[in-house]
Amino acid sequence: MLKCPECAAVLDVDEDEVEEGEIMNCPECEVELEVVQVNPVHLNAISDETEQEEEEKEAEEDFDEEEEEEEKAGDEEEE
Ligand SMILES: [Zn+2]
Repeated sequence: MLKCPECAAVLDVDEDEVEEGEIMNCPECEVELEVVQVNPVHLNAISDETEQEEEEKEAEEDFDEEEEEEEKAGDEEEE
């Protein structure tokens, strides 16, 4: 019997039927759960907060790239 790591609700899922990398939703707290390991099954809760942090990091990286491009363009204008 599998349990949600977030709210400890019992999931109606057979351990023998889940595959590594499979994503399922908890029926109680509706958190996304990724099967990170089988035999024994280990579930990792995917929270919205983590996804937002990743998006912010990507935005910062894009900003740095734009800055570098502006500097290069400025050098070309001077020459
Ligand atoms: Zn849950």
